[in-house]
Amino acid sequence: MRLILALCLTAALQAADYDLLIRNARVIDGTGNPWFRADVGIKDGKIAAIGRLLQATATRELDARDRVLAPGFIDIHTHVEGEVEKVPGADNYVMDGVTTVVTGNCGGSSRNLAETFARLQKQGIGLNLASLIGHNTVRSQVLGAANRQATPEEILKMQELVEKGMREGAIGFSTGLIYIPGTYANTEEVVALAKAAAKYGGIYASHLRDEGERGLAAIEEAVRVGREAGLPVQLAHFKVDNRRLWGSSAKNVGLIEKSRREGVDVTVDQYPYDRSSTGIGILLPSWALADGEQKVKERLADPPTRARIAKEMEQMIKRLGHKDYSYAVVASCQFDHSLEGKSIREINLLKGRRKKLKYEIQTILDLMAQGGASMVYHSMSDKDVERIMRYPFTAVGSDGGIREFGVGVPHPRSYGTRARVLAEYVRNREVLTIEDAIRKMTSLPARTIGLRDRGLVREGYAADLVLFDPARVQDKATFLKPHQFSEGFDLVLVNGQPVVDNGKLTGARPGRVLRHMGNP
Ligand SMILES: [Zn+2]
Repeated sequence: MRLILALCLTAALQAADYDLLIRNARVIDGTGNPWFRADVGIKDGKIAAIGRLLQATATRELDARDRVLAPGFIDIHTHVEGEVEKVPGADNYVMDGVTTVVTGNCGGSSRNLAETFARLQKQGIGLNLASLIGHNTVRSQVLGAANRQATPEEILKMQELVEKGMREGAIGFSTGLIYIPGTYANTEEVVALAKAAAKYGGIYASHLRDEGERGLAAIEEAVRVGREAGLPVQLAHFKVDNRRLWGSSAKNVGLIEKSRREGVDVTVDQYPYDRSSTGIGILLPSWALADGEQKVKERLADPPTRARIAKEMEQMIKRLGHKDYSYAVVASCQFDHSLEGKSIREINLLKGRRKKLKYEIQTILDLMAQGGASMVYHSMSDKDVERIMRYPFTAVGSDGGIREFGVGVPHPRSYGTRARVLAEYVRNREVLTIEDAIRKMTSLPARTIGLRDRGLVREGYAADLVLFDPARVQDKATFLKPHQFSEGFDLVLVNGQPVVDNGKLTGARPGRVLRHMGNP
């Protein structure tokens, strides 16, 4: 009798229809369509069935109790180079419901994608990862940080590097046209390199040359690259980054619409915060940053050159519509952690200097000469943030990175982007419906980067899924205390394996490198 029972049990186990069966979920499938009630069966890392699976058996069954089951979030805009090796579980992202990241943005990627991909695969990662090949990475290999146009031979060399990246599995080509050395390139160079990516079916992801006064011209430049090189264009962390132009996002969105009507496939991504984050160098004129760190130090040590830099900075901040640098806050500073969380204005006063713009500029140049700092800038208006978010073809992307818990004072977007969209912009302000918010985090970015088997709750798709209660989901990371995981994402599956279970990290590393499968 006992033997028979044991046999029956074994048979039942072997015959289990699914590895995991999630019952009674409100499925938001990622298309933007309204939620529907269903059970979802998962087998061998894939979504095997969706429907009323009353008779089905599974190794593990879980009652969703009417919580939302959505596709895992795809972050189309991240910078995880170097960090993913340190924190391969990508804790801050998976706790925020992210199951796939796209890295290599803003012109900066791994130099050797084949090697990086192989290493990550071997090491194991908590989420799926795809990468772009970066313009600045490629240009610095050929021209260093030289402030000049590339020669035709140099363009050829750079094209070869882009093609190599594409063959190794990059999903496209990215630029960071405000950064060194990308900012020294003209549009023709960008078109030539984008063509190398287009050959392999890649996209063009652009950090625009300007996000303020010359924003429209910068969008036009990116659209021109898409038109002339023949590839889709993704505009990164779309915003109006100039106080004097707050409210003008309607014009920028209008230009995207016009370009789409003309047949250029343009989409954008955005993080749901009114403050940006980047290095302190962005406050200096770009010529002052050429030719490497040593040269920059020499310029800062040379009084006439330093005076010229300071004078241009005064004009730059006026053009940005700020009276002083209270909008610029140190996020992390390697040589003096006590500065973290303080604004340039406060640091200037701490140094015993008077409350004047010209002294604040000297404080910035001192920080620069000592090795720089990473910053948070309060530079956007929430009206623009909301308007851009409402635009149907705006995806959600954090522009963040993987963070070591407790290290520095990084922008909270790395921890809280998804939860903040769902808590603040869906639940509190009703800027988006929940279905549309999910679409912007899933199928929209999947479409843009050409993922054909992720981004929807659909049979046959990879079981990247997230389970949460929309009334409870909440971002916790703030500008002062960024190292706080989002709450409410109870279960996060990557390729069918829980990386978050019961709201806790599992330490599993079921992520995969997603190589672009484009043209030859
Ligand atoms: Zn950027």
